Parts: sequence; C-alpha cells; structure tokens
Amino acid sequence: MSEFVIPAPTVPTVPTTTGGRFPVRRVFCVGRNYAAHAREMGHDPDREPPFFFTKPADAVVTDGADTPYPSVTRQLEHEVELVVAIGRGGSDIPVDAALDHVWGYAVGIDLTRRDLQAEAKRLGRPWDTAKGFDASAPVGTITPAADVDPTSGTVEFRVHGDVRQTGDLADQIWSVAETVAELSRFVTLAPGDLLFTGTPDGVGVVDRGDLLEGTIGGVGSVRTVIV
Ligand code: MN
Repeated sequence: MSEFVIPAPTVPTVPTTTGGRFPVRRVFCVGRNYAAHAREMGHDPDREPPFFFTKPADAVVTDGADTPYPSVTRQLEHEVELVVAIGRGGSDIPVDAALDHVWGYAVGIDLTRRDLQAEAKRLGRPWDTAKGFDASAPVGTITPAADVDPTSGTVEFRVHGDVRQTGDLADQIWSVAETVAELSRFVTLAPGDLLFTGTPDGVGVVDRGDLLEGTIGGVGSVRTVIV
C-alpha cells in the first residue's frame, strides 16, 4: 500500500445554515460585474464581457475568524461579493439550467492587494499575487439555494459600522445563472467550487484593527477583523 510522502493537505470547509459543512474545492472570481465598479476602476462596462481569476481553496477565512494583514502590500482593499457554492458539477451548462447546479449562497470579501494588482495591470502580468494570497477570501455561512433569490438583494459593506459599499444584486451585469454558465465553458465545474460574483462600487483600503462586515439581504453576512 502506498502512502503520502508528506502529510496530505486538509480540505478547507465553510459552515452552512444546515449545520453541515461545505468542502471547498476551488475558488473562482468574476472581474467587473457591476457597471459602477467597472467605471471606478477606469473601464467601460458596456464593452467588456466578464472574465475570471482564481484564489486557492485554502485562502478561505470562515465567518468570525481573524484575517492576517498580508505581506508585501501597502494597499489592502475590500470587495464585498455574493458567493455561489456549486453542488453539482458540469461543463457547457445552459443558462436556464445553471441555478440547478448551485447548492447555496454566501457573502464573501474578495481581499485585494490593489498596489500589486495595479502593477500587474501596468506590466501585463498575472494577478495571482494580488488576488490569490493567503486568507484573501473571507466567506460567511452558506445558505441553501432554495432559501435564496440570487437576482435581487441589498449588498452592503461596513468598516467599524461605517458604510463603505452599497449595491444590489439586481445591478449585476451578468446574473448568477449567466456567470455560472459562462464559467462552465472554460472549466468543468465540480461540487465544492465557490464563485465570487463581483463587487459593487465603493471599494477602498482597510488596515490592521479594522472590523469588516458584509451583508446581502436574503443571503446572510460575513465578519472578520484584520490583524
Ligand atoms: Mn472582486
């Protein structure tokens, strides 16, 4: 019998409202899915289809856990987002069947080293170190899909109670169904995949000691302190 030559990595998990835990396989993210945020980042939302990037599965920080301030940045920024938890895999999923592949929804924060992202954009380099660093993906408790309407709901992000981002899921350029279908053209989706679906405008910096809270009406919330 063969054995691992090093200790096997543990599977990251996220709590759900059912009491069971959701095992995380991969973390995908959508760029520029709200027109106002695309404009604040200097892009014309009408001319750009959505695009995808990734974070490691073990970048997930569960609700209430502390988030360590990352190394090699002086501009850590928040992006509050609806997170889709895939329960059934597939490729080339039709839009009208896409929501059948969703197990549930949560609120997440796509933490970003904005200074490194700006440098990567300028030099035409990948975003991995700007987006996919340790503890870059706080995710709240997952609510089963049957209890959620992913087409509308107030999105809000607060630092120490001060509102920094407000939006509505209805303002997404690409809906959850369209985004899941589009992503499944590029990869075969699998149970355990998470998909961050983009952020409204109002992104900005956070620092050590900040209490971060994201909420989406009808979905839930996520809370973390930067340490
Ligand atoms: Mn984002």
